[in-house]
Amino acid sequence: MITIDGSQGEGGGQIIRTSLALSLITGKPFRIYNVRARREKPGLARQHLTAVRAAAAIGGAQVEGASVGATAFTFHPGQVTPGDYAFPIGTAGSTMLVLQTILPPLMIAAAPSTLTFEGGTHNVHAPPYEFIVKTFLPLITRMGARVTAELKRYGFYPPGGGRVNVRVEPAAGGALMPLALLTRAEIRARRACALVVKLPPTIGERELGVVAERLGWGALHGDELRVETSENAVSPGNVLTLEIESEHLTEVFTGIGERGVRAETVAERAAEEARAYLSTAAPVGEHLADQLLIPLALAGGGSYTTGQPSLHTTTNIEIIKMFLDVRITTKPTGDGVWEIQING
Ligand code: ATP
Repeated sequence: MITIDGSQGEGGGQIIRTSLALSLITGKPFRIYNVRARREKPGLARQHLTAVRAAAAIGGAQVEGASVGATAFTFHPGQVTPGDYAFPIGTAGSTMLVLQTILPPLMIAAAPSTLTFEGGTHNVHAPPYEFIVKTFLPLITRMGARVTAELKRYGFYPPGGGRVNVRVEPAAGGALMPLALLTRAEIRARRACALVVKLPPTIGERELGVVAERLGWGALHGDELRVETSENAVSPGNVLTLEIESEHLTEVFTGIGERGVRAETVAERAAEEARAYLSTAAPVGEHLADQLLIPLALAGGGSYTTGQPSLHTTTNIEIIKMFLDVRITTKPTGDGVWEIQING
């Protein structure tokens, strides 16, 4: 039994998701204590509990002690069974983080799966739908597993109610191919989209104004700089998506509108993330850097360059090493760039 201190490093929900995914893959049971100890409200939130239950459902696992607010639980994995599953979160908890939990075992399983998620599709501190579809999944596809997602309805805080369907066609023979993302090379396209749902479009126009000014993207035209309106959600929402497409991948930076936060502030935050990304020559942004670790560890190798590793990244490395026999090194190579290397 692997024992995990949930307060280590970042001390948040990522430790739980990584442990669940790798427990299912390796068949190793684990016990976690101090769950989310570094968060304002420690213990399992509903969103994390959904992740635990989703992992248990696809992996025939026995779970002891997991309930909302629990600060410790035990997970005994069984057999991973690909198939059709539905995961209603019941709140605006991030659907994409539940996907992040169960995708690793399913993308190396023996047969395809069809998944339906209900909850939040665009949450703060979680990968938004566009990041998953435009940044993360194309790289997974390049590694050999074909995963496609389709958004049926937006889901925003507080009621959620969003819906995303995902189809997972696993890598042949369950073997992912390694990936190297070492240079960004030329930037081929920049795009900004301000999505405004059940709110005045002027919110999106103000956001694009900030993007044009802060990033010098004012010369973008047509579809490259656009406000999109929709009524397809149970509650209002606003999402600013900035895309930077380079030779090997597309990075997505997101600002999520929040009640009481000015549109200009939402846009400034997203623009600042994009600006930080553009300030180094590395192709992999901060969030992708922590999310690539599991796929590359499963592939038995890979490497990428990114900015200085976040606490999410360094924590994820420590948890991965508790389950898998891999060597992961991080080293600065100059000019704010770090190289992360994974060897199985
Ligand atoms: P907690 O409530 O404990 O913080 P959590 O379940 O929300 O937990 P974190 O541990 O903070 O999770 O992990 C958040 C995950 O979401 C990380 O993998 C991070 O890279 C990813 N993420 C956060 N913001 C973005 C973003 N804007 N784009 C892409 N991914 C993101």
